[in-house]
Amino acid sequence: MNLPLSPDRLWDRLMEMAKIGPIPGGGSNRPALSKLDGEARALLRRWGEEIGLTVTVDRLGNMALRREGRDPARKPVLVGSHLDTQPSGGKFDGPYGVLSGLEILHALHESGTITEAPIVLVNWTSEEGCRFSPSMIGAAGAMGILSEEAVLNAPAIDDGERYGDALRATGWDGTGDPGALAGAAAYFEAHIEQGPVLEREGYDLGIVTGGFATERALVTVTGETSHAGTTPMEMRRDALLGTAEMMSAAEAILHRIAPEGRMTVCRFMVDPGADGVVPGEVRFSFDYRHPSNETLDRLLSEADAAFAGIAARRNLAVKREPYWTFRAVVFDQGLAVRLREAATRNNARHRDMLSGAGHDAYHASARMPAVMLFIPCHGGVSHHPSESISREWSEKGLRVLADAVIATANSKE
Ligand SMILES: [Zn+2]
Repeated sequence: MNLPLSPDRLWDRLMEMAKIGPIPGGGSNRPALSKLDGEARALLRRWGEEIGLTVTVDRLGNMALRREGRDPARKPVLVGSHLDTQPSGGKFDGPYGVLSGLEILHALHESGTITEAPIVLVNWTSEEGCRFSPSMIGAAGAMGILSEEAVLNAPAIDDGERYGDALRATGWDGTGDPGALAGAAAYFEAHIEQGPVLEREGYDLGIVTGGFATERALVTVTGETSHAGTTPMEMRRDALLGTAEMMSAAEAILHRIAPEGRMTVCRFMVDPGADGVVPGEVRFSFDYRHPSNETLDRLLSEADAAFAGIAARRNLAVKREPYWTFRAVVFDQGLAVRLREAATRNNARHRDMLSGAGHDAYHASARMPAVMLFIPCHGGVSHHPSESISREWSEKGLRVLADAVIATANSKE
């Protein structure tokens, strides 16, 4: 099919969207359910209405922009991602997936092409998780992984404002049933890789066949506050030295059992954190990720045993409380085949890969066949103003995504 896709229009829209919440260095700060998020939504709605899309918003704020197909009885094919950003976000994480989907619908509109099934462009609410935890909370509510009430009552990490109140303040609290999207025929999401592999290996695209199992926990190590000068070493219960040993042990376990996995401590809080005082309590976030559920479980049980041993030897208490857990995700093989065929037809050098990051597609895959397409990003940088992609990668991703989405919308059921 010779669709009049415009890679330039997609590029111009990426640049236009990035102007909402601009930060030094060319990135965007557009937190979920902020006034700026509302502006980004309004811009997307305007672009959608200009090409005749029907825009609906559900009670969790998820936006659906629908183009009818020839057969009104057919389930729609979804394509989308998110418009919210991290505080130090770039121009492409999220918006690339939404705006490439919009460009497909724009080209269909211009050429007057009617697909068999409807196509619905989705902008999920609050993917990033920097204000409302967990990440991908809007998609989780729509797919029934979290209840509507749980999502609406989720408190903001910074000031405790409820999701539902923040949503109402933006004016994007819709009336649609969040579960409506769960009955779709398929879900496609294009995204920047957020890692360095595709660029380093010279590929144009990654066909994402699944995602890492992840468990992130808050670890609390409790000892006793005492004087840094007067307390002999053997009488101390130093929570911070115990924590340092635990972190090293967790890293060593990963290197020994599964060096292809990931281990990260992202946040670290010391109490009381005062000069001259032996730290009495430390809390740190800690995650392991691995493609296999069984290996992840083994890593975690070894870490728990190591933490307990270190705590016992140093007369400390330790507890690990998971708060962000995903089992390994396996995307739909049929849709992956369609992306591979589309990549070959469009002369895009491609490889299969797993996603190390969480994405809205994880939740969609619980309810329907879902798949992701990665385009490279320079140096693997994301969540930073210097996040960048080439126009060529953007175009290849658009052409392949369009090809696979339209093939799915026109396929026999
Ligand atoms: Zn993203």
